[in-house]
Amino acid sequence: MADERTFVVVGGGLAGAKSVEALRDKGFEGRLILLAGEDHLPYERPPLSKDYLKTGEGLGDAFVHDQDWYAAHDIEVRTGTVVTSIDRDSHVVVTATGERVGWDRLLLATGSSPRHLDLLGADLDGVVSLRTIEDSDRLRGALVQDARVVLVGGGWIGLEVAAAAREAGSTVTVLESLDLPLVRVLGPTVATVFADLHREHGVDLRTGVQVEELVGEDGSVTGVRLADGSTVPADLVVVGIGAVPNTALAEDAGLEVDNGVVADAVGRTSDPDVFAVGDVANVDHPFLGRLVRVEHWANALNQPAIVTAAMLDQFGPEPELPFFFTDQYDLGMEYHGLGDPEDDVVVRGDLEGREFIAFWLRDGVVTAGMNVNVWDVGDAVKGLIRSGKQVDRAKLADGRVSLENLT
Ligand code: NAP
Repeated sequence: MADERTFVVVGGGLAGAKSVEALRDKGFEGRLILLAGEDHLPYERPPLSKDYLKTGEGLGDAFVHDQDWYAAHDIEVRTGTVVTSIDRDSHVVVTATGERVGWDRLLLATGSSPRHLDLLGADLDGVVSLRTIEDSDRLRGALVQDARVVLVGGGWIGLEVAAAAREAGSTVTVLESLDLPLVRVLGPTVATVFADLHREHGVDLRTGVQVEELVGEDGSVTGVRLADGSTVPADLVVVGIGAVPNTALAEDAGLEVDNGVVADAVGRTSDPDVFAVGDVANVDHPFLGRLVRVEHWANALNQPAIVTAAMLDQFGPEPELPFFFTDQYDLGMEYHGLGDPEDDVVVRGDLEGREFIAFWLRDGVVTAGMNVNVWDVGDAVKGLIRSGKQVDRAKLADGRVSLENLT
């Protein structure tokens, strides 16, 4: 018998695209609609702050699928379609143009947005954030020889853009409110590696500073005024102070929201017919034993297989451990797990030479591992974390002992 149901996915990022793909892969034969707010087909964002930002090339590879693929899989993709409300009682979403789209099951893949800098001058021309293809294009145009680029926030966006800007010959200042960039994620030992990396590449990295105001002339930014009264001159200010989950739709619809849309281990929200996936979903992680919201690419890639299985009342795969990566100058890094910056850190390899694996340990158990310019160790690192067993710190630090032999 034909499947008469309609599934609607709100949000055309990677999580939305992988979800419609997974629904068809799992045999869903009903009507499948993807409502995407941006004018583009779904694409992956990592290149926007890395190679695509630097070269303007390779964008084609970032698109998850082309138009023909969606058509061949009978998926209605509506780009430029912003959903403004969800009516859970009548199982309808309403778009900005007033169109009402009915659903039997709804998936929220609404992602996250750059956190706005709530200061005087933040709306001046030349103050930008980075989330979309258009943002990346605009930024590339401004990262030129001797341009004075100021990054507010020494997080992943700040540091990746700083690297691209230095490679373009710009003068770069990073303003970070904490004592080290990334310290809230990595803790001081490993955060220092990133601080040193950028300083060695000529970045003026200022930590423990408070931004007070952005100043400008004729509507364009000319500088960033700090709490100590000094002003850092700027032709361009890139704000990378974190992201906020796009929860307004869910909140207005009365779904449980707390640091994202709260969902169980398979992505089911407080409404059994509404699911959440990707950046916006604060999901119960069975291995980590708590709600976890992950804003990284790999989560958007992998979580749809779990959530779409649940939408179809099937069993899906076990959740992956959180994973992310970065490329900055000649440093490449992969991170698995979820360490606490307060955890002990054990280093295997050469920290100063930036060729090492760092492990975060709580009560002797590995919670996370990061390989820097060391490759093909991901499975071993994940195995250590998943084992949940205490490891010998000396052996963990000893590159002659195979990681596989530690558990
Ligand atoms: P982020 O990684 O959370 O870093 C934001 C940084 O800005 C934090 O260090 C934060 O410090 C600091 N900050 C906050 N308010 C500030 C202020 N007023 N002045 C100066 N510093 C301030 O966020 P992001 O770099 O903006 O990136 C946005 C999202 O994209 C994140 O989810 C990120 O994970 C993702 N992303 C990931 C990658 C990757 O995985 N390679 C690359 C790019 C982007 P506090 O901790 O004190 O708030």
